[in-house]
Amino acid sequence: LSPIHVIGGGLAGSEAAWQIAEAGIPVILHEMRGVRPTEAHKTDSLAELVCSNSFRSDDATSNAVGVLHAEMRLAGSLIMASADAHQVPAGGALAVDRDGFAEAVTQAIDRHPLITLTREEVSDLPPDDWDLAIIATGPLTAPSLAAAIQAKTGQDALAFFDAIAPIVHKDTIDMEICWFQSRYDKVGPGGTGRDYINCPMDEAQYNAFVDALIDGDRTGFKEWEGTPYFDGCLPIEVMAERGRETLRHGPMKPMGLTNAHRPDVKPYAVVQLRQDNALGTLYNMVGFQTKLKYGAQAEIFRMIPGLQEAEFARLGGLHRNTYLNSPVLLDPTLTLKGRPGLRFAGQITGCEGYVESASIGLLAGRFAAAERLGQPLRRPPMTTAFGALLGHITGGHLMADEDEPGKRSFQPMNVNFGLFPPLEAGAITKPEGVKRFRGKDKAQAKKQATAARALNDCAAWLDRLKADAEERRLSA
Ligand code: FAD
Repeated sequence: LSPIHVIGGGLAGSEAAWQIAEAGIPVILHEMRGVRPTEAHKTDSLAELVCSNSFRSDDATSNAVGVLHAEMRLAGSLIMASADAHQVPAGGALAVDRDGFAEAVTQAIDRHPLITLTREEVSDLPPDDWDLAIIATGPLTAPSLAAAIQAKTGQDALAFFDAIAPIVHKDTIDMEICWFQSRYDKVGPGGTGRDYINCPMDEAQYNAFVDALIDGDRTGFKEWEGTPYFDGCLPIEVMAERGRETLRHGPMKPMGLTNAHRPDVKPYAVVQLRQDNALGTLYNMVGFQTKLKYGAQAEIFRMIPGLQEAEFARLGGLHRNTYLNSPVLLDPTLTLKGRPGLRFAGQITGCEGYVESASIGLLAGRFAAAERLGQPLRRPPMTTAFGALLGHITGGHLMADEDEPGKRSFQPMNVNFGLFPPLEAGAITKPEGVKRFRGKDKAQAKKQATAARALNDCAAWLDRLKADAEERRLSA
């Protein structure tokens, strides 16, 4: 079998290389550190954690990232095995000794008989004779490769900063205060003229909100990140500072909107939320990209009428990043459309976080291996954490934007329950002896049922992959 090339030995690339080699296929892993550093990595070890040492919650019964941990363990993940072996106490979270963890990954890769690690920068797209390759070069992809990717995919297809507006679980928005309406009832692809959720503010609420934004605690940019402000994409708190009326004439303008609950009272300002995933379970706060600290965001955004109980699938941010407009560019098995055999994996695909990046590396590695072996390319079901995240990256995201048609709106995302399909009717029932089954109890029961369904479906998917491998072995 000829080798599969993996470019980038971070969280995703190391996992991809491992999965391919474990399927019996030779891998050449190209990692530039050792020859060329990045702005954030400090060592030459593979899978270095550049910041926190936490893989977040390890609760596989009711936390989406915990479910992803469990699915990765089921799939024989090198990253999870190394994390488990170098765990440090962190309550319900999985945190690791960062040096021990990275050393374990590096040694496992070094010792694998089918993996060759080369320390070199790949500065162009893979040559044609690398018929199967995975690019997993992460948020700090070296500039020449980034330029080559951009030349192939188009100027707007590769972003160098993210500008993330907070995303809210729809079922935590108070629809007795908010209402559905598109500005001037404009009818978009949904055909209803009711595409946005609107949160009304009176003058006093608006002024208190602007004050809170201006006073809120912020995070700074690292020196090497530069300051990526440009006028189309200012953080909400910077807009607030520019003048008390700026937001009311910008993302919070009330024009063309009538409060369905109080048609007689013209709102002074309106916060709009737009559907963020095809399932309609997540809504993003339009124009609310921010550098406020997470704690400040949750507190300040819950001042918005209708969001007082909001649960955030993710909070906002602006960071140096490198990521593709994947829903448009990648096919459902992470292959670049128009370039057969070339896959992307990790944070460059538009997922966020160590675990998510490694999990997309795991999937890209398995897809590439299946392709080399002539086996079916079976995607994980959408009901699994693997499938939900893959769905977000390769197509579950909505691109519509009535104010700016054609503007890309895909932003990186951590795994969360909002990405999973809703449960089937009757999947959760009221526990015996409980009078009122709603609110937090019901939400918890939903999470538990979603997690159990995910693990069950993941095990069935992996069994199917094992059967494919066995069939191939027998026919050989
Ligand atoms: P990486 O782990 O970055 O791996 C990419 C690899 O590709 C690197 O080893 C790099 O040297 C190599 N490479 C790049 N270009 C080339 C090339 N041309 N040729 C060969 N090799 C190349 N996530 C969290 O979960 N928690 C955090 O606290 C956190 N903090 C972060 C802080 C910063 C400053 C940054 C930039 C990111 C942070 N992230 C954090 C995100 C984190 O980087 C990713 O989640 C994760 O590392 C992405 O995995 P990856 O494999 O896609 O990329």
